[in-house]
Amino acid sequence: MLLTCVSQAFCSWHERTFQVMGTEARVEIWEENPKKAARLIKQVIEEMERINQLMSPYISSSELSKLNKSAAKRPIKISKELFSLLKTSQEFSGLSHGAFDITFASVGYQYDYREGKSPSKDFIDKNKSLINYELIKLNKKKSTVTFLKPGVKIDLGGIAKGHAVDQAINMLLQEGVEHAFVQAGGDSRLIGDKKGRLWNIGIRHPRKEGEVITQVPLENVAISTSGDYERFYIKNGERVHHIIDPRTGKSSSKSISVTIIADSSTKADALSTTVFVLGFEKGLALIESIPGVSAIVIDNQGKFHYTKDLNSY
Ligand code: AMP
Ligand code: MG
Repeated sequence: MLLTCVSQAFCSWHERTFQVMGTEARVEIWEENPKKAARLIKQVIEEMERINQLMSPYISSSELSKLNKSAAKRPIKISKELFSLLKTSQEFSGLSHGAFDITFASVGYQYDYREGKSPSKDFIDKNKSLINYELIKLNKKKSTVTFLKPGVKIDLGGIAKGHAVDQAINMLLQEGVEHAFVQAGGDSRLIGDKKGRLWNIGIRHPRKEGEVITQVPLENVAISTSGDYERFYIKNGERVHHIIDPRTGKSSSKSISVTIIADSSTKADALSTTVFVLGFEKGLALIESIPGVSAIVIDNQGKFHYTKDLNSY
């Protein structure tokens, strides 16, 4: 079948939805050359899948799995890319006094939200002290990682999707793309505007599936939302979900949804998880101290809170 374009403007938008990193991902680009557009979309998908193979805790050959298997026994040499993301994760842990902590997985790996399973109180009590980012030792010169105690495990679920989106966006920028949208689950980043108008990015309604609670008009930024509705089960009326308070080893209950707007997706991703755990008071105070970052928090009572720059909005 021969497809003809009604208008050049319409035909220059190319889009694809796909699955990666355990979530739905999407790319939209403006590109007048259809062959180039197809190549770029393929490259975006391959780049995100490459990162999945490197950082997934569910793939036994991933670099991350190798760390979880052996880094408590001896220093493990890893790629510059993973090393750099571990270093960034440590920086967010320091900034948030441990609210963001990839060693949450020392307890967190025992949760199975699909099966409705949580670790026992005994397991949490025994292993909670292994949630401590200071137990990860990074050696920059040798590009190695050591865990200082047996039982320490890490998981990059709170930052890796942001990194993957940044990688895809940087590739598109290098290829000269001027208008694009890349999304992996709750993490999105935009290049430019949507050809003369702003992108409208919807924030999911935390309690009504398929509905958006608000739309944010944006261009040229990253936006990430962390919510307690992404992976959860309800037991005895209590919501057990995937964002863990490192101090308790249990689901964090201060927020139900946190959205961060920032210049990079890695930053927005890490900070959305961080502010979720901190709650709106400490969380917004932290965000106000970081130039160029905005936040929208829905607290556990369903009340909205914003950083000052969004008050007029
Ligand atoms: P996000 O959807 O970006 O908020 O990330 C949630 C994911 O981050 C979870 O599925 C976990 O993999 C990971 N995570 C949970 N709690 C924490 C925490 N306190 N610090 C860092 N990562 C976390
Ligand atoms: Mg996050």
